[in-house]
Amino acid sequence: MVRRIRSYHEVGAAAGGDVLEQVRAQRRRLEERLAQVRRVVAVASGKGGVGKSAVTANLAATLAERGHRVGAVDADLNGPSLARMLGAAGQPLEVREDGVLPATGAAGVRVMSMDLLLADDDAPVRWRGPGGRVAPPGAEDAFVWQSTLETGTLREFLADTHWGELDWLLIDAPPGTDRIERLLGLVPRLDAVLLVTTPSEAARFVVAKSVRLARDAGVAAVGLVANMCAYVCPTCGSAAPLFDADGARRLAEAAALPLWTEIPFDPRLAASTDAGAPFVLGTRDAPAAHALRALADRLERDTSHQEAPP
Ligand code: ADP
Repeated sequence: MVRRIRSYHEVGAAAGGDVLEQVRAQRRRLEERLAQVRRVVAVASGKGGVGKSAVTANLAATLAERGHRVGAVDADLNGPSLARMLGAAGQPLEVREDGVLPATGAAGVRVMSMDLLLADDDAPVRWRGPGGRVAPPGAEDAFVWQSTLETGTLREFLADTHWGELDWLLIDAPPGTDRIERLLGLVPRLDAVLLVTTPSEAARFVVAKSVRLARDAGVAAVGLVANMCAYVCPTCGSAAPLFDADGARRLAEAAALPLWTEIPFDPRLAASTDAGAPFVLGTRDAPAAHALRALADRLERDTSHQEAPP
């Protein structure tokens, strides 16, 4: 049966009954699903617009091109762009008894995103609170509703998607340190956290806080991905720093983090990735493609993984 679903609650509703029991059952399913995944990696950022989704899409495509089985979940529920960047937007989802089959994106990456559940591209996500009421902006309880519902939806995304066996599951986290904290509480096992940032001074405080949260949660590998470091001229290929040329290295040093890669700004990366064709798949020689492949190398080398599922 193939059809577009508006809400995962259609799947959950069949279970009926008590909400707490549903949440417990979902947690168990989440653990079972993740037992089929060799490495779970969160791609996070303190702020939006720093290239987190573009990095996730290109990293997923790089790993898939190398023959890995890759899943990518868009946890950025209010600004979902991962399905589009992986060329999977508009695909209908197939609902099975034991979960929803993810869409298939570029290089075979399995994708789940709020984008795939919304009826049209312009539809905003509207969080409903008790009684089905949409919280008016500024209402005291609006943030609490939204946090709770966002967490619940993300748990559903992870637990009720039929990921199958995966070598990598990449989670594109919503921006903000509070969201990183919630994600760390929700996902029972994270093998690595990538912190994506521009190398500007302003990002320093946000990076330090995120690192502390990830380390406190026991994440073994935390690495810094400095994006938009230099501008690559698409005509002549020369690169000039966009921010302080040494900013990324100093940011990494201050946070005692390994600098896993420095990706230059390349307008071709935005043009192809935003159109659903991850840049790395079509461009071999550009410095930005090299930097993204170097990131995949680091992840393959520096993260430990679960043994292959039985
Ligand atoms: P975020 O997920 O952090 O909000 P996005 O990944 O959506 O940010 O990136 C914002 C915009 O910047 C997108 O159009 C994306 O394609 C573009 N972008 C990201 N990184 C680069 C880069 N290194 N070079 C060129 N464009 C980039």
